[in-house]
Amino acid sequence: MKIAENTLGLPYHVDERGFYGRFGGAYVPEMLYPNVEELQNRYLEILREPSFQQEFEQLLRDYVGRPSPLYFAKRLSEKYGAQIYLKREDLNHTGAHKVNNTIGQILLAKRLGKTRIIAETGAGQHGVATATVCALMNMECVIYMGAIDIQRQAPNVARMKMLGATVVAATSGSQTLKDACNEAIRDWINNPVNTHYILGTAAGPHPYPDMVTRFQSVISEEIRKQLEEKTGNPNPNYVVACIGGGSNAAGTYYHFLNEPDVKIIAVEAAGKGVHSGHSAATTQLGKLGIIHAAKTLLMQTDDGQITEPYSISAGLDYPGIGPLHAHLYETGRGTFLAATDDEALAAAYELTRLEGIIPALESSHALAKLGEIPFKPTDVVVVCLSGRGDKDMETFIRNLPNK
Ligand SMILES: *Cc1c(COP(=O)(O)O)cnc(C)c1O
Repeated sequence: MKIAENTLGLPYHVDERGFYGRFGGAYVPEMLYPNVEELQNRYLEILREPSFQQEFEQLLRDYVGRPSPLYFAKRLSEKYGAQIYLKREDLNHTGAHKVNNTIGQILLAKRLGKTRIIAETGAGQHGVATATVCALMNMECVIYMGAIDIQRQAPNVARMKMLGATVVAATSGSQTLKDACNEAIRDWINNPVNTHYILGTAAGPHPYPDMVTRFQSVISEEIRKQLEEKTGNPNPNYVVACIGGGSNAAGTYYHFLNEPDVKIIAVEAAGKGVHSGHSAATTQLGKLGIIHAAKTLLMQTDDGQITEPYSISAGLDYPGIGPLHAHLYETGRGTFLAATDDEALAAAYELTRLEGIIPALESSHALAKLGEIPFKPTDVVVVCLSGRGDKDMETFIRNLPNK
């Protein structure tokens, strides 16, 4: 397990102040200082404990089902003229990569002496992954969710309740994800001693982006081992992932960040088109701002109001981007592309027919850009298949092509 390696001073890793280049930091209200400082001071020391690593590794293996396979997609490879491998995070318990992070954070919460967990969720995927580990660890679990999202995502709300979580509706503002975040932060301010806030992506105040990235870095750690076995070289030519806040992407890139031969491709959600006014392509449309207590690229109006994002896939429907990715974009280390709703849907149908795998709509955005990357036939390409498509069946059926 390499999650606790010392990376201080390495490019593309967080510095001691919590920054990636000019992005990151912890712009939290004063009343939240004690909670965030406790995490900043303790997280690396806890991740380095042998007992922590042993428990994390064992749960990832026996409960989540890791290592997830690295699958050589033969027919997809023929179609795009490269050697394409899929990292099968869709086969994890609960159906996506999010559980890697919630397992890590609940083990951390236990070691901090916390007895109560809170989280925010939009589509409910992170809420389900959090409620799952709370059931596993017998912890009280409160999930904040926008009132509109609660109506839109009834099956996930039911799952969270069945798992024993209390789902609290955020009824302010647009009654969606950002309002749920505000409610969760309010709760955390009021319960600083017994409560840990499990943030669901590689965003938010330092140390969350680095902490979440370390938990998800098991993805690239496994890719290197699996590629070495399959091809004799641990490094691919390309790693490709979709980006909402950026946790599956950060985990997929982590052990390749300082391998200059490995090209990093990030795919954001263009919604109905990057400039349609219905998009979530943050690097294309965003400017420097502060969202969820971090300085990063952010979709906003000229007077700094956060723009309501849009994507067909709930997991990518976020107006910001984690600070690591803003830095990868600004330095040119990463190439950022954007896939529309229609392109993502087409890619989902294509993977299903070529490989017999129904991908999540989020992951389909990464697949949708394979035709735009100038591959050589010998190029080894790893695409993170961040989740499975069961949760998106309604959307797939509604948009089924007439064939
Ligand atoms: C939540 C989610 C995402 C987006 O979140 P990231 O933090 O950017 O990884 C991507 N894929 C799936 C399947 C998800 O559930």
